[in-house]
Amino acid sequence: MKLLENKVVVITGGGGVLCSTMAEKTAELGAKVAILDLKRENAEKVALEINKNGGQAIGLEANVLDKASLLKAQAELHKNFGPCDILINGAGGNHPKGTTSKPYFEAEDLEKDEDLITFFDLDPEGIKFVFDLNFIGTLLPCQVFARDMAKSQSGNIINISSMNAFTPLTKIPAYSGAKAAISNFTQWLAVHFSKVGIRVNAMAPGFFLTEQNRRLLTEENGDLTARGNTIIDHTPMSRFGTPEDLLGTLEWLCGEGSAFVTGVTVPIDGGFSAFSGV
Ligand code: NAD
Repeated sequence: MKLLENKVVVITGGGGVLCSTMAEKTAELGAKVAILDLKRENAEKVALEINKNGGQAIGLEANVLDKASLLKAQAELHKNFGPCDILINGAGGNHPKGTTSKPYFEAEDLEKDEDLITFFDLDPEGIKFVFDLNFIGTLLPCQVFARDMAKSQSGNIINISSMNAFTPLTKIPAYSGAKAAISNFTQWLAVHFSKVGIRVNAMAPGFFLTEQNRRLLTEENGDLTARGNTIIDHTPMSRFGTPEDLLGTLEWLCGEGSAFVTGVTVPIDGGFSAFSGV
């Protein structure tokens, strides 16, 4: 019997780069998978691919910031596959309005040119967007889908944190703070649900080249930017991650091998978080 046979998996942001790979993996392990994404066509595309390869999946449009939309997706899920056993909270990301132009503020920046975004220019709406998408966008799906788990007295939640939750990255205070909130919430929820058989853990990917960060890390010709080079210099394994690098940890967290593990955030980072830079 396959590891996730008879399990129902919900994965938010499942139309994206990292989470579509995770959706495919859980299907391969025998789960029935619901791929939820703001972009319906992306969710459906991933589901179609899984079904073509002999798995069972549905693609559903859902906004992780809108409880009504999540409840609608849950109703579809129940109709097609039954209640949720495993929730992977993958929807997330940064926004340019929560990002400074430079890593360090310097005295001359007070007389700045128009295009420079310093700390003083950060738009509270941009910061709020990033906090909402990452934190509220994790909390609301837990409220909706963990109810299924509480009823069956068993379940598994996997959140997606990031390197910047351990130590903030320069330029992206909103994304760093929001991911730190996710790691903290993972611990809180693990304790809160510990008496009803629901485990809550998180994965913290290091640096994976995706559409979200390609502009920050590579030049148009594919060469690394200064920031891309700094990341590789601080990653002892000297490379970016690939989506497949996440799958071993995902399988472990989803399965009985981690039955006594709850409240942890696992770095998958080629050593980035262990390295002091010296
Ligand atoms: P991605 O942009 O490819 O995927 C994110 C998906 O979320 C997209 O399909 C998008 O449509 C969907 N989405 C956005 N807003 C949504 C909403 N309101 N409701 C529902 N879906 C919504 O990004 P990715 O690189 O695959 O990242 C996946 C997760 O991993 C994110 O939480 C990201 O913050 C995290 N992460 C990524 C990296 C990296 O290096 N790429 C590193 C650490 C953590």
